[in-house]
Amino acid sequence: MQLLHGIFQVGGDLVGLTVDEPGAIWNDCNSYVIRLDEGLLLFDAGCGDTMDQLFANIRYWGMDPADIRYAFLTHPHYDHAGGGYVLKDRGVHLVSGKETADAVHKGDNRCCGYLYHKVFNPFDVDTILDEGQKITVLGLEIEARLMPGHSMGCTIYSFVWEGKKVVISGDVIGTKLSGDFGWSGSIDFCRTEYLDSLKRMADLEIDYMLPGHGMVYFSGAKRRVEEVLNTALMEWRQ
Ligand SMILES: [Zn+2]
Repeated sequence: MQLLHGIFQVGGDLVGLTVDEPGAIWNDCNSYVIRLDEGLLLFDAGCGDTMDQLFANIRYWGMDPADIRYAFLTHPHYDHAGGGYVLKDRGVHLVSGKETADAVHKGDNRCCGYLYHKVFNPFDVDTILDEGQKITVLGLEIEARLMPGHSMGCTIYSFVWEGKKVVISGDVIGTKLSGDFGWSGSIDFCRTEYLDSLKRMADLEIDYMLPGHGMVYFSGAKRRVEEVLNTALMEWRQ
């Protein structure tokens, strides 16, 4: 579905855009495409088994999956990065934070293949972004902020679109109408790091928040992050 002019959600099982066989409670994450003059940017890949569906959704909106130039990964979990190897094989330039790059290279338990009863297919990330690092791809400047906690690889990506600050937030903020946080079952889940990430994220200006699952926030995104920080402070303070 088109979210904004030139920004599309092309994957996600909670809205039925891509539907995988049941593996975990939540399978495919939300995947987003940004359409630029020189090609397409993809954010998160889903489990991989549904890549054909994701590509069909891209075609539905008049775009060509062969035009995907870059794919950004929010973290290494199977439902977000499982399809990364398919993109790599197609020559897509992959971008992530350092911890995610290491996890998907090894394909180890940080990728949570076990949760989906699948083997994670490892692959190499091409560009590794550090905290606060900005990268300009196809003319769009994108800033990476490392937000470890849900997994140690969590990275959010922000950019300005039609004068608004858009944040692609992965699983840092729970937006499934149940629970404030991303799933806490990760092998590398860390409350201390998560709380610190939420404090930093609450300082950000956010107009639109495009999360890893569930609802897109077209208003009240910053308020939502502040609510989650407040919950974390009350539940996790020691
Ligand atoms: Zn996750």
